[in-house]
Amino acid sequence: MPNILIVEDEPAISRVLKVYLSKAGYQVEQAFDGEEALRKFDSLKPSLLILDIMLPGIDGWGILKYIRERSSCPIIMLTALGKINHKLDGLNQGADDYITKPFIADEVVARVNAVLRRPLQLGDVQESMNYGTLKINFKAHAVYLHGVELSLIPRDLALLLFMARHPNQTFTREQLIEQVWGIDYEGSDRAVDLAIKRIRKVMENWPLSEGEVKTLRGLGYQFCVYHKK
Ligand code: CA
Repeated sequence: MPNILIVEDEPAISRVLKVYLSKAGYQVEQAFDGEEALRKFDSLKPSLLILDIMLPGIDGWGILKYIRERSSCPIIMLTALGKINHKLDGLNQGADDYITKPFIADEVVARVNAVLRRPLQLGDVQESMNYGTLKINFKAHAVYLHGVELSLIPRDLALLLFMARHPNQTFTREQLIEQVWGIDYEGSDRAVDLAIKRIRKVMENWPLSEGEVKTLRGLGYQFCVYHKK
């Protein structure tokens, strides 16, 4: 039976989740602050984590980071902060899904079922790729050029990671928006162009002999690699 760790400091919310998830057949454990969450994560090795962001002590981002450095355990973020930026931050940092409060408990159960049904996402893909002097660590969500980590805003980093996962494939701006930023993203195609521009800027020292982020006029963009190892 899959065991789920609920990390939520509000007892009423935690209780509701526990009742519904138990009814759905899951074994449920609770943690009410950051330290307890990390302790229980290490000892219980849960099948899935429901993780609130605002917590006493270590917050949800800190917990997400701690876990992602060690494990690909599915994580559903839970928060009152329903802003698109928080959603992007969470997904960029390795959360598998995102639920905003107030929520319908049945919906949480449905999402948990869905995430646990997914094929292992982080486990079955390559954790890192080296394209010459460019090294991409998908698990850590970090990109290094000549050994130095590139500094990108989360939205741009997500775009770069997505394209790097699919080298030498062309994506239209619409595809990139839909697949990377989500269909509820409200920006324009122009946002993709600007993001690509910023990505190219931080990657300007990537030797052209190794690869480039290429514009295909009238089509879109492609992460080209000429030197793969
Ligand atoms: Ca909270």
